[in-house]
Parts: sequence; structure tokens; C-alpha cells
Amino acid sequence: MATESSKLAPIIATAAKQFASARDIHTVGDLLAFWPRRYRTRDADLGTAEVGKFLVGVAEVKSATTRSMQKRKGTMLNVVITDGTHDIDITFFKAWGHEKALVPKARGIFAGTVGMYNSRLQLTHPGYTMLDDFDAGDRKALIPIYRKVGKLHTWTVTESVRRVLDVLDDVPDAIPDDVRARRKLVSRTDALRGIHTPDTMREVETARRRLRYEEAFVLQVTLAQRRRAASGQVTTPRPARPGGLLEAFDARLPFTLTAGQQEVGATIADEMGRDVPMHRLLQGEVGSGKTVVALRAMLAAVDSGGQAALLAPTEVLASQHHRTITAMLGDLAEGGMLGGAEHGTRVALLTGSQSTAERRRTLLDVVSGDAGIVVGTHALLQENVDFLDLGLVVVDEQHRFGVEQRDALRGKGSVPPHVLVMTATPIPRTVAMTVFGDLETSTLRELPAGRAPITTHVVPEDKPNWMSRTWARVAEEVRAGRQVYVVCPRIGDDDAADEGTDLRAEAVADDPDDSDDDAPPTPVRPLKSVYAVHADLVQEPALAGLSLEVLHGRLPSDEKDAVMARFQRGELDVLVSTTVVEVGVDVPNASVMVVMDADRFGVSQLHQLRGRIGRGGHPGLCLLVTGTDAEAATTRLNAVAATTDGFELARLDLSQRREGDILGAAQHGRRTQLEFLHILQDEDVIAQAREDAFALVADDPELADHPHLGAAVQARVDAEQAAYLERG
Ligand code: ADP
Ligand code: MG
Repeated sequence: MATESSKLAPIIATAAKQFASARDIHTVGDLLAFWPRRYRTRDADLGTAEVGKFLVGVAEVKSATTRSMQKRKGTMLNVVITDGTHDIDITFFKAWGHEKALVPKARGIFAGTVGMYNSRLQLTHPGYTMLDDFDAGDRKALIPIYRKVGKLHTWTVTESVRRVLDVLDDVPDAIPDDVRARRKLVSRTDALRGIHTPDTMREVETARRRLRYEEAFVLQVTLAQRRRAASGQVTTPRPARPGGLLEAFDARLPFTLTAGQQEVGATIADEMGRDVPMHRLLQGEVGSGKTVVALRAMLAAVDSGGQAALLAPTEVLASQHHRTITAMLGDLAEGGMLGGAEHGTRVALLTGSQSTAERRRTLLDVVSGDAGIVVGTHALLQENVDFLDLGLVVVDEQHRFGVEQRDALRGKGSVPPHVLVMTATPIPRTVAMTVFGDLETSTLRELPAGRAPITTHVVPEDKPNWMSRTWARVAEEVRAGRQVYVVCPRIGDDDAADEGTDLRAEAVADDPDDSDDDAPPTPVRPLKSVYAVHADLVQEPALAGLSLEVLHGRLPSDEKDAVMARFQRGELDVLVSTTVVEVGVDVPNASVMVVMDADRFGVSQLHQLRGRIGRGGHPGLCLLVTGTDAEAATTRLNAVAATTDGFELARLDLSQRREGDILGAAQHGRRTQLEFLHILQDEDVIAQAREDAFALVADDPELADHPHLGAAVQARVDAEQAAYLERG
């Protein structure tokens, strides 16, 4: 008998090579995890045959005629097959080898692409296998359809799987019996049989339900273990100190905190005051005031004698955070300087593009503890960055960072620091339970008072009137004293690579090996670039006299800072940029955003971009310019135009991505595919699996009594790690 780790070669000799080379399938387990993509009923419905379509199914030979050919040697074979109602012709230009099998009344499975000859539908040299030598005793009603495996015929794949199942021992089950009984799930062995050799679609669904649950369960067990390991850690409590920086800061805040900010602030203060490290996710719409919440936590850390690090995804954002925080703190950020407040601290900035001297000075401030708050990009994660006493790590815009980066920064404390993760992409509950399953979550639901509404319109690029109206609106706003962003998907300095991190491919590429439903090739449109659009706008009569500049990630960082600072001071009217302005950039006076080739951006990304305007009490106007009328793109853009509810848009965004992308999209650190679990739709499954997993891990943290589960968890963790290492 075979197990999941048995090699395939001894079981399915010749086909094994094809499986290995075409699909990287080597073991029984690999093959059984090669799931059918769909099922067809066994009997062919020849009435549905269409030229160009792939046809597969059981039919009966009605007639067979061998003829000698006029221009060539040898004989050809003309066969008519029937499903009882419809007929179709089959032609072999070499009769030899087929005549004996294809005799009237014989039944077989036929497969091939339908063609047309003499205005009759026909299959030329189709693949077939006669039912006598295939499985005649066991007529399953459904034929599983697999993706193509090299040169193998579809039923060779089916037959290989079948043969493997024939010799398969019961496989170990990662789901404990009591859980299986409670959740009414079939065994893994039954599920594998059910999915590969079903009689009915109900059987398939039962199998899928079990496999889906298994994925959710194994995932939740890894999260439960992570959470448990974290709760066993001991750290230094960082309570705010009466009469400290936080109090001084609160006293000078120019606004009152919203109820949400106060509530989250209290939760954070409570958790940071304990000796178990905080692991909290703070989500809130763009502009909901997360930064203030984070800054207050950082000040508490400093008050208690520790340091706080703020990790930002881009240099632009890091410098902006540095600027904002320094400005908000005022003389509280001038610790150690003449005229600074008595209890003040210092805010350091660390990015990759700083000069060596600058960097050395910063590193010194960090290691000496003079800098209580350190803001930076990935550069913070490097080995030579040492903190005197890192008490709190804040990660901004989490979707750009993975678990691994979070861990790297966490490792810089002598004891594990408290961790606060902020994201402006609202995270649906199910995603919070999976991707961020090892974090507690808080949500800021309200925006601070005084936010102006944003109106969004889709602008078809090929309508000249609309475009000139767009630029006229831009000019009007500037005359009214406002500023404008124009966002483009490319830089255009002969860049091969695009800067936008979330650009969508024009069409989601399907598996190129799929033989039967090829997507038509999509035409490639050149994308608008920052430089080209800037050049056009400088010539645009409506914008005459306005000051326009470009901003993108490949500018030298002092230039970037200078442009951003000028825009912030209102010295520039129009900023033509890439998505570097996507996250966190805060210029309250900006009221219009024009997004070029808007269809090339994801829903959440557009929502993020749009969050840059409407911040200063001036109503915002967002114009999504598009040159496509492709349906999916139009749906996306209309959805963004129709609502400013970030949660709804996040849901839409995720639902439009492919399964495997969902985890990856939400967090780059976890790109391992889920085959059956649908993170958005399977909320109940995820919730149940989470409940079972957390209960089990509470009883048996090391999974000592659950070796099969332990092995499944290890396999998943290994796969994740491998995926991480591959990305480098
Ligand atoms: P987020 O990081 O969630 O996008 P920010 O913290 O950058 O939001 O806040 C956006 C703007 O709102 C900032 O200019 C900030 O100073 C301001 N702000 C934050 N909290 C409040 C509040 N309670 N009342 C008024 N303005 C606020
Ligand atoms: Mg922010």
C-alpha cells in the first residue's frame, strides 16, 4: 500500500515522468493535491459541440469506414460517434491502430478540439480510450477535469490518480476525530476519494467542505501557536508617567481627540502597562487620526524610559512622519538642546539614502538613547541599527510589510517590545482573523469632525470635452487657492520597472496550459507617465501660469523632500506624481486629485490615493481618467466613484483578486496558496476553525497529542518560509 510520501514512479511508471517534469509532481501526496479544476458529466452532449471548443465525454461508435487515400499511401478512418441524439465525425489519417478499437457499438471517452470539415463538425485525431479497457466495471457518473500535464491525455491523468487511490492506505488526518465529528466532516481519505472519483457533485462538495475546513484549521492552529508564544513573552511595562511628555503633548493638542481615539488610546496604554508585549492592529480610514494615536503611544514609551521606532513603507512617508511628529511635538522634540522643554526627547530619521555622516550621527543618537523616537524605512531593520532600549515598535501601513519584517524590528529590543501595527486599508473581519490572526484589532470608525466630503467622477479619456473640463476644474481650484495632485502609473524616465506597487496587469493571466478556455490576448496600451503628463500639462492652455512639478520615488531623496516640502508650503499648484503620494501624505490644502489611467490601479489603492484630498475642510474632487471600457475596470472605477466607504471597497477589491493573491495582497509575507478556502466568503468556516484551533492549542500547545496536525502545521510554516526566502 502507498502513503502520501510514496514515490509515483513504481505506481504509474511512464506517466510519472510527465507529472514530474510538467507539474513538479513527484509523490502520491503531490498527485492527490493536484485537484480537478471541474467535472463533466460522463456522457458527452455532442449537441454542445462548437468549432474551436474542447470536447470530452463518453460516446458510442455509430459507424466506422476505412478508405484508401487518393494522393497518399495508406488508409484513413472515418468514424461517426453519437451520444444517442447528436452525431459527430471523427477522422484519422492513419487507420492503423484505430480500426480495431473503433468498431460500431463500442463505447469510449473521446477528447479533442472540435473542427469543421465539409460544413460538418468533426474531431481530427482525437484522444480516446475505449471503456472496456478503462474502468468499465466502475462507471462513475462524473469525469474530473485536470489541468494539462505535459503530453499526457486527460484520462491518463484521471487513470493515474485512480490507480494511486487504488493502492492508497488511509492517510493521516490533521483534523482530530472529535473536531471532525462535531463539524460533521469526512476523513481526509474520504475527501481525497470524493474529490478525485466522485459520483455526484454532492460528493465533491462534501469533500471540498472538509478540505476547506482543513486549510482554515491548520492556518488557525499556526496563528494560535504564534499568539500563545507571544503571550508567554515577558517585556518591560511602559506605563505613561504623570507629568511626562505625553501629558505635556496632550495639553498642547490643538483639537480634542475623537471618542474612538480616546478609547483606542486607553486600550493601548493599558496593554503597554503590562509585562506581556502588546500586539495590536489599529485600522482606520485614511485621515481617521491614527498617527496621533501612535504618537501618544510612542510618547508613553519614552516617558517610561524606553524608545519608540516608527517603520514607514517609503522614504517620502518616513520623512513626512518625521516632519509631522517634530512639528506636533514642538519644543518637546528638542531634548538636550538649549531652549528645549525640560523632559523633551529627540526625533531621529533613518532612511537608506542618507549620507554616511548623517547616518552615523543618527545611529549614535539611537544607540545612546538620545533619540526617544526613531522614524525610518526598511533601513531601520538593518543589523547595525542598535537601540538603547526599544520599548515600542509602530509599523505604519502594514500591507507593505510582512510578519518577517515585523519580527526583525521586534528583535531589536533587549526584551520583546510592544508592537502597534497601523493600516489604512480597512480589513474585513475574515482577513483580520487570518492574515492578521496573531494580532488584536482596534478600529477607528469615525473621522475627526470638519472633514469635507469628496466627490468622485470617472472621466473617459477619449472624450476631448471631458478632458478639457478636467483641466479647467483644476485651474479653477488653483485660482481658489487650492492645490492639485495628478497621479500617473509610470515615471517615464525610460523606466522598465514601474514604481506603483499595486499595478494590475491588464488581464489576470490564466494558467497558460489550460487547453480549453483560452482568454483572448489583451492589447497593451502605453501607460501615462509622470514626465509625459507633466510635459503635456505645461503646454495645456487652461493651466497657463500655474506651477507644476514632478515627484516620484527615483528622484534623489533631497530633491523628493524639497518638492514635497514646497508642495506642503503651498508654493506649488500641481504635483504630478506616481503613487508615492498614496499613503499618509498630508497636505490639507490639496483639494483635487486627477488619476491618469485610473483603471490600472486597484480599488483600495484608488481609495488610498483619494484620501489625500478633502483633508483641510475644503470639499474634495477626485477625477478618475480612463481610456478603457473593459467591464471589470469600469465596475471597479464606478464602485470607487459611488462610495467612500473604505470597508466596502476593501471587500470589493479582495473579491476581485484571485484566491491565491488575497493573502499576498494583504500581506506580502504570506503568499502561500489556499486552494479551497475563500478568505472573504468562508467567514463561518474561518470562525469555527479558529474556535476549534484556539481551544486545541490551549490544551495541547506543542501539539504533542496531535502528531498529524503537527506535521501539517509544520508543512505550512515551511512552505511560507520557503516562499519568503524565494522572494529574498
Ligand atoms: P491617518 O494617519 O489615520 O490617515 P492622521 O493621523 O494623519 O490620519 O490625521 C489626519 C489629520 O487629522 C492630521 O492633520 C491630524 O492632525 C488631524 N487630526 C487627527 N486627530 C484629530 C482630531 N481628533 N480632531 C481634529 N483633527 C485631527
Ligand atoms: Mg497616516
